[in-house]
Amino acid sequence: MVAEAHPNPRHNGHRRPTVSFELMPPRRPDAAPNFWETAQKLVAARPDFVSVTYGAGGGDRATSQQVLSTLLAGTPVLPVAHLTCVGASREDVSEVIGDFLESGVRSFLALRGDPPRDQPDWRPASDGIHSSIELVRLLRQVENARCEADPGAALRGAARPLTIAVATFPTGNPGAGTTREQEVRRLVEKQEAGASFAITQLFYEASAYTDFVAAARAAGVTIPILAGVLPTTEPRRLRRVEELTGVTPPTRLLAELDNLDDPEAQHAHGIAYSVRLAREVLDAGAPGLHVYTFNKHRPALDLLEGVGLLARTAA
Ligand SMILES: Cc1cc2nc3c(=O)[nH]c(=O)nc-3n(C[C@H](O)[C@H](O)[C@H](O)COP(=O)(O)OP(=O)(O)OC[C@H]3O[C@@H](n4cnc5c(N)ncnc54)[C@H](O)[C@@H]3O)c2cc1C
Repeated sequence: MVAEAHPNPRHNGHRRPTVSFELMPPRRPDAAPNFWETAQKLVAARPDFVSVTYGAGGGDRATSQQVLSTLLAGTPVLPVAHLTCVGASREDVSEVIGDFLESGVRSFLALRGDPPRDQPDWRPASDGIHSSIELVRLLRQVENARCEADPGAALRGAARPLTIAVATFPTGNPGAGTTREQEVRRLVEKQEAGASFAITQLFYEASAYTDFVAAARAAGVTIPILAGVLPTTEPRRLRRVEELTGVTPPTRLLAELDNLDDPEAQHAHGIAYSVRLAREVLDAGAPGLHVYTFNKHRPALDLLEGVGLLARTAA
């Protein structure tokens, strides 16, 4: 481990930041053993939850459901199901929600998803669910219908209410062409629709997070805004993430990483950078860290160890 250990804020006085991880279902069956080895190492860190991504268009619907069911049945961790709606009909999305609820999932991250970039003529389904806000409402409608149809479901729902998280974008969402101010307004609407908390897109400067939270609070957002962080250990990953999200990594960080040809040195430098960033947002009041793992446990766990948030049972 490279960064000097911080006093453990997870057990420090009354503040106990949350820890959570994002996992992506394995794309191919032969990737499953590595995926589960990583998942077990992350679960051993006793995160508050693990979220499981879901491709726009639902291409990985079955694997996503399998991963969630296995986490539910075989681990103590709380799984959060990402759910996208772009391009899907209301009926399809309702069916997916029903399947998730049936398998015991009670926590969701409601997302629009991105329209396919390689299909210029693509049009959303006319009877579709077009935004995360419509999806938040649909999740509640499907749950309410189940509760009305079955008193057992109603009691289970009362004992374990649905939790619906949403995404938010501290520097605007380049993919959707929005500014920070538009995303603040959008978060107010997501909260009004029934969102329980928000998870941010990754960012590289603490001020991106703190300025956004300040603007959101001023606009009336009261739900927790969880800081999404990427361990910045690989320049290749940072460039790929920029392609996917439009969030540009700092030129200086990229140059520093590029100048280190030894992967171990890159790892140490990248962890030191993300530990500093994570400490700054925690010190500024972030309720916790949501780590974008890209299915790698070592960078995620080293980041948490650096900020003193690694549970003692972790491998
Ligand atoms: C934490 C996190 C996890 C993610 N996980 C996934 C995943 O698992 N799978 C995946 O495919 N993608 C994922 N994404 C990416 C996400 O789906 C895209 O970034 C998408 O473009 C935005 O999603 P949203 O939920 O904010 O959409 P929405 O809130 O629906 O907004 C999308 C955009 O549409 C426009 N818009 C739509 N309706 C309105 C309206 N009524 N008024 C004004 N503007 C409107 C706005 O410009 C808005 O910014 C994730 C992103 C984050 C931050």
